[in-house]
Amino acid sequence: MGTFSQYKCENCNKKFELGGPQEFGNTWFGRRMIRHTGIGMRNNISGLWLWLWDNSAHKVVRRVLMEYERKCASFEVWGNRAPVKLAYLGDSSEWLIDDKEQPLLGEIPEGEICPSCKKGKIEFDQQIQT
Ligand SMILES: [Zn+2]
Repeated sequence: MGTFSQYKCENCNKKFELGGPQEFGNTWFGRRMIRHTGIGMRNNISGLWLWLWDNSAHKVVRRVLMEYERKCASFEVWGNRAPVKLAYLGDSSEWLIDDKEQPLLGEIPEGEICPSCKKGKIEFDQQIQT
């Protein structure tokens, strides 16, 4: 249900994806991504997370945005009616936080060198809605 920005390396074509928020559910195996839940009635959403660019480590990292007090249905989550237990990144629309001097960005800076091939530049490809 989030907005994702897709990037790719001009040299090796490696893809990078940032964005969110995306629903996750707590399971016996840990936090698992919930894909394409739509506006469902099932209470299976434990929280939301984001994919951000770690500008000091030069890689995509996943960060929990918020967790709910109980498992919620998507109509509660997207109707802002889900009881939030913990909000981690606050309400920053820029998703720019200074976390232990490790700036996490909502987009990959222009001219960033691909961490995979260390040659090409990462270029914005397209934006998608999930
Ligand atoms: Zn590359």
